[in-house]
Amino acid sequence: MEPEENIKLHAIMIPVPLQGHIVPFINLAIKLASKGLTITIVNTQQIHQRLMKAQSISDGTLDYDIFSEARKSGLDIQYTTISDGFPLNFDRAGNHDQYMEGLFHVFSAHVDDLVGNLVNSNHNPPVSCLIADTFYVWPSEIAKKYNLVNISFWTEPALAFTSYYHMDLLRINGHFGSQDYREDMIHYIPGVDAIEPGDLPSYLQDPEPWGIMHRYIFKSLEDARKADVIICNTVQELESSTISALQEIKPFYALGPIFPNGFTKSIPTNLWRESDTVPWLNSKPKGSVMYISFGSLANITRQDTLEMAHGLLLSIVSFIWVVRPDNTWNLLPSRFEDDVKDRGLVVPWCSQIDVISHPAIGGFLTHCGWNSVLESIWYKVPMLCFPILTDQFTNRKLVVSEWKVGFDLCSGRILRQQEIAQKIDCFMTEADKLRINLEETRKKLEYTLSKNGSSGSNYKQLIIDLKSRIL
Ligand code: UDP
Repeated sequence: MEPEENIKLHAIMIPVPLQGHIVPFINLAIKLASKGLTITIVNTQQIHQRLMKAQSISDGTLDYDIFSEARKSGLDIQYTTISDGFPLNFDRAGNHDQYMEGLFHVFSAHVDDLVGNLVNSNHNPPVSCLIADTFYVWPSEIAKKYNLVNISFWTEPALAFTSYYHMDLLRINGHFGSQDYREDMIHYIPGVDAIEPGDLPSYLQDPEPWGIMHRYIFKSLEDARKADVIICNTVQELESSTISALQEIKPFYALGPIFPNGFTKSIPTNLWRESDTVPWLNSKPKGSVMYISFGSLANITRQDTLEMAHGLLLSIVSFIWVVRPDNTWNLLPSRFEDDVKDRGLVVPWCSQIDVISHPAIGGFLTHCGWNSVLESIWYKVPMLCFPILTDQFTNRKLVVSEWKVGFDLCSGRILRQQEIAQKIDCFMTEADKLRINLEETRKKLEYTLSKNGSSGSNYKQLIIDLKSRIL
């Protein structure tokens, strides 16, 4: 027996407290546990409270264990919560900068205490790895302090990671943070044939990148350079040259697509209460409905919301539109729902997977959040793309220009009602042109998860790699 076979890994996993990060972290926790790891996954108390309320499990008791069902099925997963440094009822969105400063400074002290307690708890197997979200600024310090393998989990595509990773190269070449900003094509990022400056993550497009979010993101990417291993929710078969170039620099494992499996159904992951859309969808013909969602974070402006609403009224296509209740800009025109009658359904949140897997869905007007992109490909739903911030511009490039499984909603970044109506109406008939590519791309996802596919074997390699680091 190899010495590694006696080693049992125990990883602490800490997602950034945002919907688009909690989903892949929870799915990955289940996946790693099903491969024999012991997992302790950590949510902030505020996120835990929202999960409980959204699922009507309770009004937020901290002792409810969201993994109890998974554990009954034999998975070794512990769940715990910590304070993010703010009172539970603190308005985080309304005090964004103060909250970000807190995540910078105060939250890391709470993480330090928690990790210290877990490391010293005589847990069997002992904690050996830290799997922190790449967007945190503290993992290298904490991993070093407690002698843990530092695994940075990047929940976006490799193309976005490598753009940030080569930020200095962009700076030197005048494509970022420069007085003489260049707008021509970028050809020098290793493993990336060519990328337009407008396809970089939005934080790399700002002429004055000095805001708190910039500082936070750039510092976290600096910290990721010190990680022992990077893991990523992407697919080697889809981003092979970018990933190969990154592997020259660091151990980089593509583990995607990291989707829910049987156990995950029992685990609450939604931060908003889901509306039941299925009866409405059941009443619609096959492939006739456009699903519209801009995800959990991005807000479109009040003007864009009005253009979108009027565009939908002008269009003849049926739609489900997710308008989050927290988004005060999303003020629909009065009588919108009356005017649209049974052709449209507006919901504050839904089970996206239930919606896009429904046969009535014929297209997805999306902000190109990375989870949404992977989910859409998996359910073979063509995309109409309207990126708003962060990696969504980069993801759009992959969807529209590289894999050709989506079209752009508009040529620029400004929404106009006539253009929206015309694009949506055309899209529902022209989307057939995308279906061959969708079939092929979906097959790549299926293959990568199979026994011989790269994600399947990357899990095996990752586990061998981690064990060798703690020997
Ligand atoms: N989602 C959902 N219901 C909705 C909107 C989104 O379940 O009404 C889920 C979606 O399936 C995805 C996640 O929320 O897993 C959003 O992540 P994504 O990366 O697409 O976008 P983000 O919210 O991070 O911008």
